[in-house]
Amino acid sequence: MDKQMKLLVGGSLVDGGAGSFDVVNPATGKAFAQCPKASEAQLDEAVAAAKAAFPAWAATDADERGALLGRLADALEARTAEFASLLTMEQGKPTRQAMGEMIGCLFVLRAFMDKRADPVTLRDKNGNTVTEHRTPLGVVAAITPWNFPMILLMQKLAPALVTGNTMVLKPAPTTPLTSLLFAELASEILPAGVFNVICDENELGAKLTGHPDVAKIAFTGSTATGKKVMASAAAMVKRVTLELGGNDAAIVLDDLDPKAVARKVYEGAMANAGQICVAVKRAYVPANMYDAFCEEVARLAEEAIVDDGSKQGTTIGPIQNRQQFDRVKELVEDAKLHGKVIAGGEPLDRDGYFMPPTIVRDLPDDARLVREEQFGPVLPILKYDDIDEVIARANASEYGLGGTVWGKDLDRATEVAKKIDTGTVWVNQYLAIDPRIPFRGSKQSGLGTELGDDGLKEYTQAHIVNAVPFAEA
Ligand code: NAD
Repeated sequence: MDKQMKLLVGGSLVDGGAGSFDVVNPATGKAFAQCPKASEAQLDEAVAAAKAAFPAWAATDADERGALLGRLADALEARTAEFASLLTMEQGKPTRQAMGEMIGCLFVLRAFMDKRADPVTLRDKNGNTVTEHRTPLGVVAAITPWNFPMILLMQKLAPALVTGNTMVLKPAPTTPLTSLLFAELASEILPAGVFNVICDENELGAKLTGHPDVAKIAFTGSTATGKKVMASAAAMVKRVTLELGGNDAAIVLDDLDPKAVARKVYEGAMANAGQICVAVKRAYVPANMYDAFCEEVARLAEEAIVDDGSKQGTTIGPIQNRQQFDRVKELVEDAKLHGKVIAGGEPLDRDGYFMPPTIVRDLPDDARLVREEQFGPVLPILKYDDIDEVIARANASEYGLGGTVWGKDLDRATEVAKKIDTGTVWVNQYLAIDPRIPFRGSKQSGLGTELGDDGLKEYTQAHIVNAVPFAEA
């Protein structure tokens, strides 16, 4: 890529004060672009710019702020294909899925442009009025991971900005370019300082979350980093939203055709090469249909076209970065010791970080691939006999993000879904994330809510005004 990308600080597109670093295309394993690297001084400037812009932005009419979100959506829509192509290059996902992510971004921006955190009257009785107002918090630090760099940014930016906050974004070091391209476009639409972007190679996150002028941290990433973010927020009792890792179970009930449900579960596990917080990460199947289900999933895995995401027809792209690729390989090697690999199992012998869809059966529950978040195109399939037993096994996890239940009898499937202790459980569907529906993790999968009205409120402070007429003594 010839174009030199820039950081966005205080309304200006600037070079990195600490030089630049390579961005690698995971389909080749080779650098294809340079990313500007922010200095600590630029981080301070970005926060100072966001702080300076806050009073005027917060005082702007909410309809005007919403309209600017609409303009961002329009500008993005005009360049969706360009964004999708860059997304494939830096992230690896097939172009169709990259287009899907970009269309999702438009949906999020437009869903929030009309949302308002209006005052609510809690009491109006005998002269006593109690009103809950919602005020913006100030500077929001947004920190994003590398699996969905664009949509996870929009899920933070849209509610933060429409409620009157300003933002400093720090994208993941391996997928910064689409965020910088968005910054370019935003610099022509938003007032200076309202949205700032700095990039790093993993050294500025802690400084940003610990910055005294950051009022709220909106973080999506691993549970391990999330714990550090929460600790850093504690020093000043900052507001924090954590969207962290997951180990979602898919529970298949015994009234479905194993072949038909196998396809859905497979797709839920393999989209974005399994690098989705709410991908199916372990599948539980009744003993009497276990063999047929495993056979069909293995067949689908063998059919997959694993290649560079920019090539037409590719169904599964590479794993996004070398570190994650090594981790997935390690989990597969460990699984080979304890279970049976029935598809995939060996990385492709070519440049880039390619692991074909890998299916493992007959693993014990304490295998690493069952207990840990694999975050790659690898699915363990586990057998069960009894529904209470499988619910307990699904819940035996430190994670609590999502999950799916599959059954013909919808009432029965819904009853099972109610017993899974995660933030979301989908019945007979997967990945049905919608900006109008709140999304949150339980247990170590997160804290607070993203999306929906509750997600909007996370960017505000509740402020109660409780008034009665003055009582003469
Ligand atoms: P990660 O935790 O390694 O990195 C996430 C971000 O945190 C990056 O921008 C990174 O530079 C930054 N960071 C690193 N150290 C930091 C520190 N000390 N303080 C502040 N920020 C710091 O995560 P990842 O590997 O990029 O992403 C994969 C993880 O994200 C998976 O666990 C996945 O499940 C999770 N995820 C969760 C959701 C959700 O909504 N719950 C969505 C997508 C991904």
